[in-house]
Amino acid sequence: MKKKDVNSSRIPVYRDAGFELFDADTTAEAFRKETENEREPDLYIYSRYRNPTVVAAEEEIMKLEESEWALLTQSGMSAIDTAVSIFHRGKDTRPWLFFSEIYGGTISFIESVLKRRRGIEIHNFTATRQKYDLDDYESLLKSLKPELVYIESISNPMLIVPDAPEIIRMAHRYGAKVMVDNTFATPLLWRPLEAGADLVIHSATKYFSGHGNITAGVICGNDHSLMQAAVEYRKYTGHMISPDDAYRLHTQIQSLELRFRQQCLNATIIAELLKEAPGVKRVLFPGLADHPTHAEAVRLFGNKGFGAMITFDFAGDSEKEKRTLRDTFIRTVADKIKLIPSLGDHHTILLPVESVWGSKYPEPGMIRLSVGFENTTILTETIVKGLEATK
Ligand code: PLP
Repeated sequence: MKKKDVNSSRIPVYRDAGFELFDADTTAEAFRKETENEREPDLYIYSRYRNPTVVAAEEEIMKLEESEWALLTQSGMSAIDTAVSIFHRGKDTRPWLFFSEIYGGTISFIESVLKRRRGIEIHNFTATRQKYDLDDYESLLKSLKPELVYIESISNPMLIVPDAPEIIRMAHRYGAKVMVDNTFATPLLWRPLEAGADLVIHSATKYFSGHGNITAGVICGNDHSLMQAAVEYRKYTGHMISPDDAYRLHTQIQSLELRFRQQCLNATIIAELLKEAPGVKRVLFPGLADHPTHAEAVRLFGNKGFGAMITFDFAGDSEKEKRTLRDTFIRTVADKIKLIPSLGDHHTILLPVESVWGSKYPEPGMIRLSVGFENTTILTETIVKGLEATK
């Protein structure tokens, strides 16, 4: 961001839709430089193209992901659309390979937009017993020669952590670019670009915003030509974030580290508590030794934490009983833990998995918890109260 001429320590919110360009020569220069796609233009033209408040927020994210560039968009989905569309070249588009355990909205986008509307050849690589078999993956890379491989660093809702560095290395060996949705891990657990990923995306609606009050997305990378393509796509599709949202994100992201560290700590405590509860059949949390990808999580995140998402389900003799236990728990904790279909918020929130994913995950008593950074004692007491009610 350019120097400010007032003694404020805050970044200004530039709400200009179009910026003043003074005369014909300056206008020509601004447009010439715009098509050169400078990361931070000397002359701004129009806020759908670039905006100085947005650039300031992008710089905060560049520091976190240690990336050469970051581009904010108005949602996580528009970040995904922008990132994948860089590789779409009409009928010349080569196949894309998506790992199967990814956000449901991304799966719907693949089915409804990428396959049905754009006719892109898309393949799935399916996890077996909640793990990805890398020999099968290599066979698929060999036969398919995809242009793009897409993974999530921690999947939703089974919280699978792939052996991402190896997946990236193998993809590159077969000539594919790799895109990582790093929303659940955040750069505080792992920075995909360091491991060679080509693009990283986030739903900034989640941990980056951290308070459930901004919808935003971001794409990060180091490759200048990918940035140019993403800037162009964002501009033409209007996927740009608003300066007001960028300003708020710029502020809220300052506390990401503090918030997320506490969230990871709270999640570890709650996961262990649930694990000991006799009425709980299974707890999925990558930090627990019995999680199918615990070893991958330890390798990837070291001792930084295991994220703040937990999925668990109730024991019960029948589907009906499991649903009853689930509903009793949800009702009992409702004054402190709200049912909100999002994650990464300040408070712990929950989601009944069956109501969202249907029969994809066959345990009807399953609940997904997004653990917040509230007082650990109050949170623990709330969970204990919920578990007591299900006895
Ligand atoms: N990626 C992940 C992992 C998500 O969980 C979500 C939304 O829940 C998205 C992307 C999409 O983000 P948004 O809702 O901000 O468009």
